[in-house]
Amino acid sequence: MDHGARALVLLSGGQDSAACLAWALARYGHVETIGFTYGQRHSVEMDARQRVREQIALGFPEWAGRLGEDIVVDLAGYGALAESALTRDVAFEMGARGLPNTFVPGRNLVFLTVAGAHAWRRGLTHIVTGVCQTDYSGYPDCREDTIEAQARALSLGLDAPVTIETPLMHLTKGETWALAQELGGDALVDLIVEHSHTCYRGVRDVRHEWGYGCGDCPACKLRANGWRDWRGA
Ligand code: ZN
Repeated sequence: MDHGARALVLLSGGQDSAACLAWALARYGHVETIGFTYGQRHSVEMDARQRVREQIALGFPEWAGRLGEDIVVDLAGYGALAESALTRDVAFEMGARGLPNTFVPGRNLVFLTVAGAHAWRRGLTHIVTGVCQTDYSGYPDCREDTIEAQARALSLGLDAPVTIETPLMHLTKGETWALAQELGGDALVDLIVEHSHTCYRGVRDVRHEWGYGCGDCPACKLRANGWRDWRGA
């Protein structure tokens, strides 16, 4: 617990960032959120992040008082130069450099830099992000080394200490479900199942026990496998 601290959570509307928001609300006295648009193929996640905020405020009164402002930053220019399968209507596959074509080069570095600028303006000293190297999808900007270097770069460049917290870094997707259960019981698990969104294809009309999605894209498969690992344990 660090109830004197003020934090900024990178909230995309997915399972991981929803769990991170709960983690931050359980820990810090004041928590704000930031999201980014960068030409994603659908706006489903943007809707999901608003619902996650609203439902957390409704369902968890002790957290509601700590939940502060939200901002969505338009990074369309960045999205245009960093095209990937997340921003173009192409099939999901492995690319030539051994990275999945859902990789948006430098995405987390850009997000953390913009988050750092916003945090500096708002007096928020802790940035919380749901990056994870355990279910490593081949994204080098999710690695612990990358995040540590970015925290150091921000602290130097802003001339103010910036802490980047990555509560999911060493968790499997199954353990992320378990973390949600620990933080907020079945109510939080149900909230994340119902209101967070992970599917790359933006499917919201097919409901599985782990939530909505096509069930077939890489993001759905990770989420479904994590759910099964956790429930089967
Ligand atoms: Zn999917």
